[in-house]
Amino acid sequence: MQDWTMRVTHVIDHAAREAGDREIVSRWADGTETRTNWAGIRSDALKMAQALQALGLKKGDKVASLAMNHSRHLVSWYGVAGMGGVLHTINPRLFEDQLEYIANHAEDKALIYDAAFQPIIDKMKSKWTTIEHYICYDPADGFDGLAFEDWIGEQDGNFEWVTGDERDPCMICYTSGTTGNPKGVQYEHRSTVLHAISGLQPSTFNFSASSVMLPVVPMFHAASWGLPYAGAMAGIKFVFSAVNDPAVLHELMEREGVTDSAGVPTVWLAHFQYCDAQGLDLPKLKAATIGGSACPRFMIERLMKNGTRVQHAWGMTETSPIGTVGGPTHDWDDLTFEQKVDKTAMQGRPIFGVELRTIDLDDPSIELPRDGKTSGALQIRGPWIIKRYYKAEEDCADENGWFDTGDVGIIHPDGTLQLTDRTKDVIKSGGEWISSVELENAAVGHAEVAEAACIGMPHPKWDERPVLFVVRNPGSSVTADDINAHLAPLIAKWWMPDAIEFVDDIPHTATGKISKKDLRERFSDYTLAG
Ligand code: ADP
Repeated sequence: MQDWTMRVTHVIDHAAREAGDREIVSRWADGTETRTNWAGIRSDALKMAQALQALGLKKGDKVASLAMNHSRHLVSWYGVAGMGGVLHTINPRLFEDQLEYIANHAEDKALIYDAAFQPIIDKMKSKWTTIEHYICYDPADGFDGLAFEDWIGEQDGNFEWVTGDERDPCMICYTSGTTGNPKGVQYEHRSTVLHAISGLQPSTFNFSASSVMLPVVPMFHAASWGLPYAGAMAGIKFVFSAVNDPAVLHELMEREGVTDSAGVPTVWLAHFQYCDAQGLDLPKLKAATIGGSACPRFMIERLMKNGTRVQHAWGMTETSPIGTVGGPTHDWDDLTFEQKVDKTAMQGRPIFGVELRTIDLDDPSIELPRDGKTSGALQIRGPWIIKRYYKAEEDCADENGWFDTGDVGIIHPDGTLQLTDRTKDVIKSGGEWISSVELENAAVGHAEVAEAACIGMPHPKWDERPVLFVVRNPGSSVTADDINAHLAPLIAKWWMPDAIEFVDDIPHTATGKISKKDLRERFSDYTLAG
C-alpha cells in the first residue's frame, strides 16, 4: 500500500475538497455573526501558515491561542499545524500563576487572542518571556495592534503545507494540575488523526454529512474532545458561539438546525434552567455528548425523554481526550427506560484504539476482574494516550504503556466503565473504600440541593469518615435530617456521612470541576468527634 503520512493537513484538505461548501457559522462576543465554509477555513489556514512564516516562525514553534469557539480559532488549528507549528490552546480561566507558567514553559512565540481577553494580555505581557507577537482575533474599532483578518489578508495563500514526520507534535494542552504545576500534553499529528477517525464511529460521535454540531466544550479544553478534526473528516456543519449564554445557544440551535452538541454537565444544567424560566422546550437534538465530569441521572432522563441520545463520555487531557463513550448497546431494545438511564449514567465503553484495565488500589500487581463490582485504579493505553509529559525526564506510562488515570472505577463484563471516584478522593473508612462521588451523586438527587461535595475527614477510630458539604438551592431551608432521609435508601448504611455542612459555595477548578483540594484546605481545621 501507499505511504500516507498521517498529518492533520490531510484532514482539512479532505474537508475542503469533499465538503467545501458546508457552512461554519460563528456567533461573536459582540453579537455579530459570520459565515464561512470548509473551503474558506482551508484557504485562510494556508494564508495563516504563510503569515506565521513571514513573522519568522519555524517548524516546531509554539503558537498560543487564548480564545473561545469561532471560525478564526478553527483556522488556527489547521494553519499552525500546516506551518509545522504546535498550537498551544490556553484556558483563559486559569489562575495568573498558571498562565505565567504554561506560556513560558511551552516557550510560546506568538499569541492570538479574543478581544474579551485583552485584560489578561495587559496583565501578563510583562511576565511572558518568550511571546514576541500578539494578534487579536476580533478587535474593536480603533484597535492599534495586529488584527487577525488583516494579518492573514496580506498573504496570497499560495503555500504548500509543511511536511514532516507523523509523530511531530501539532498541539499542546496543559492539564490544570490539581497538585503542583500544570503539565503539558503534546498531541502528535498521528495521534490526532487516529483519535479523530475513531471519533467518527457510530458508537462515538456518530457524525454523518448531515450533522450540524454546536460544540459548547471549549476549543481550549482537551482539543474540544477532537470534534474540530472528526467534524472536518465527516464534513459536518459547525455552529460556534464565542459566548456560553444559554439564550444565545438555544437560539442558535433552533435557527441553525443543530442536531448534535457537546459539553460538560453544567452547560446542560444552565440550558435546562433557561428553558424552564422561559417556558421553552429543549432543542430537539439528535445527540448530546456529555463528559468532563459525571452526568447526573436527572439530566440523562430529561434529555432521553426529549428524544436526544445521550453519549456520556469519559476521558482526560492525557487521553486526547476520548477514552470511553456511552450509547445504545446490542441489548438496548430489551432494556426498560430506567435500565437505559442506569447504563447511560455509567461512562460508556472504550472506543477502538484504547484498552482499559483496573488494578487493586492497595496492591498494583493485581489486575482486577471485569465483573461489574470490583473497583480499582483505572489504567489506559493506546496510540493517543500520553507516554511522557512535555519536557519531563521520565515516562508517565509504564513499560507496557499503561497510564494511571488517577480515576477509580469498575469495569463491567460488556466493557462498560463505571467511574466511582478519583484515587485521591476515595474515602478509606475502617479499611473499606467509600466512593465520594456516589455519595455526591445521591445527594444532588435531592430537589433542594444545588451542589454537593464529599471529602474524607480524619477520624480517630475509622481513619477517615465522609463529610458532605452542601449548597442549598436559593430560598431552600433543607436540613441535614432531610438529606440523610433522602440518602438512606440510596447508599450503604456505613457510607452515611458523619456530618452534613451547609456552605454558600463550593470551590471549583479553572475547568469548572469541584476542587476538593481547595475544599480540604478551606476546612483544614475541621474535626470529627470520635
Ligand atoms: P483537569 O484535570 O484539567 O480537569 P481533564 O479535563 O483532563 O482535566 O479531567 C479529566 C478528569 O475528569 C478524569 O480523570 C475524570 O476524573 C474526570 N471525568 C472526565 N469525564 C468524566 C465522566 N464522564 N464522569 C466522571 N468523571 C469524568
